Amino acid sequence: MRRALEVAEKGRGRVRPNPLVGCVLVKDGVVIAEGWHDHLGGLHAEQMAIHDAEEKGHNTNGAIAYITLEPCNHFGRTPPCTEALLWAGISEVIVAHKDPNPLVRGDGISVLKEAGIKVENGLLEAEAAIQMREFLHWCKYRRPFVTVKIATDANGSVDDLSEEAGRFTSEDCLIKVHELRKDCGAILVGSNTVIRDDPSLTVRLVETDRQPLRVVIDPNNRIPADSKILNDGFGTRHLSDDFRGLDAMLDMLGDLEIQRLLVEGGPTTINHFLQQNLVDEFILVESDVQHSIPVIADFDLSSRFSNKTQTNWGSESVTIYSR
Ligand SMILES: [Zn+2]
Repeated sequence: MRRALEVAEKGRGRVRPNPLVGCVLVKDGVVIAEGWHDHLGGLHAEQMAIHDAEEKGHNTNGAIAYITLEPCNHFGRTPPCTEALLWAGISEVIVAHKDPNPLVRGDGISVLKEAGIKVENGLLEAEAAIQMREFLHWCKYRRPFVTVKIATDANGSVDDLSEEAGRFTSEDCLIKVHELRKDCGAILVGSNTVIRDDPSLTVRLVETDRQPLRVVIDPNNRIPADSKILNDGFGTRHLSDDFRGLDAMLDMLGDLEIQRLLVEGGPTTINHFLQQNLVDEFILVESDVQHSIPVIADFDLSSRFSNKTQTNWGSESVTIYSR
């Protein structure tokens, strides 16, 4: 199952609004094939694994399937995986996490049991839940999981008023930011960020075949008409006269099947999200640069979030706060 979780990662940033799923086939104690949901519209993990076994000349009859998510039992973009597993002669299915939405996707576990297959559920369930975090969140709330990301200098300053707007983090850190963007269905900023920085908010430093939706909150319609995000041809929601508050906006993004929203705005926008208790995860990137005319923003994160982990992105130290 650990291997199944590992191969599932290959679909990250490519399968949404579907969850990441991995599948490993084992026969006589040996891994004979593996598969993952690779991209939206592509094969499901189970089908790719069965196909992989066939290609390698293995007989799947009597094999055990380790799957990170309960197999689907509905005709969606592909035929049901329950059918594929039965057809392949799989004798036992071990599932990490039940499908949070069985009404839509079909009760795969019951169908397999009724067909006489031994099914076990809950192996490495917690790990699978972390991997599918945004998908599970969206299934439950019909809203995106909200991640805030902001960079500060060594003293907690979010901006330097002495220079032209520009980044002050390392190249390696920027690559991590683009990986994060790739994992998000939408990226949000406020009007001030667009007016000051004219950002593209696209994924450029890592390979991708899709771009996130850009969202600008601009209630007073202040951003210039020639802003990059309005003219580069990628999707943008410019919320001006039609902005009805963050709650309504998150519902709207949920309806668009956006499962993870990245807030990359400045302190004003971020504080609105924090004050309304709408932030699920806060990524604080700390550089050792010192701003000469600093803009100090104290978000009081320790009192708002119960979990805290530490990592590094390039030469920056990163603290990830979550609920
Ligand atoms: Zn399936």
